[in-house]
Amino acid sequence: MANYNPNLVKIHRNYSIEEAARVYGVHKNTVSHWLRAGLPYLNERKPYLILGADLKQFLKDRRIKNKQHCDPDQMFCLRCKSPQKPAEGFVEYLPTSSTKGRLSGICSTCDGIINKYASLASLERYSAIFDVSVSAAQKHINNSAKPFLNSDTR
Ligand SMILES: [Zn+2]
Repeated sequence: MANYNPNLVKIHRNYSIEEAARVYGVHKNTVSHWLRAGLPYLNERKPYLILGADLKQFLKDRRIKNKQHCDPDQMFCLRCKSPQKPAEGFVEYLPTSSTKGRLSGICSTCDGIINKYASLASLERYSAIFDVSVSAAQKHINNSAKPFLNSDTR
């Protein structure tokens, strides 16, 4: 993952997507991706504007996040800006597709929400580490994918 220097941004300026892309010599799609990844922007009128201070903070956070490695029993906390353990080791698996999802827990340090992406296949491994609860939607997907689980219907 590329490392963008947050200090290239002037905090008292606003940037359109095109301008922000030019500062970093990246494609507009890269900046659009940052917006989807949580970079705040003003969307009341076009062109959308990104506050320099927000862009700088976003890239700083990203840098820290990229640098820090989470152990298997840790998840990255955006508020603490460091890997943290979920409170009581309790996490919920929220599926985003039939094979992938994320684990969501409460940071044991700041009580914020912490997340980690996980594949359905890795859940077994994670349940050895965490107390994983699987949402009802996922159970439904599991049952339809593995009909033999319902073998008590004769
Ligand atoms: Zn935290």
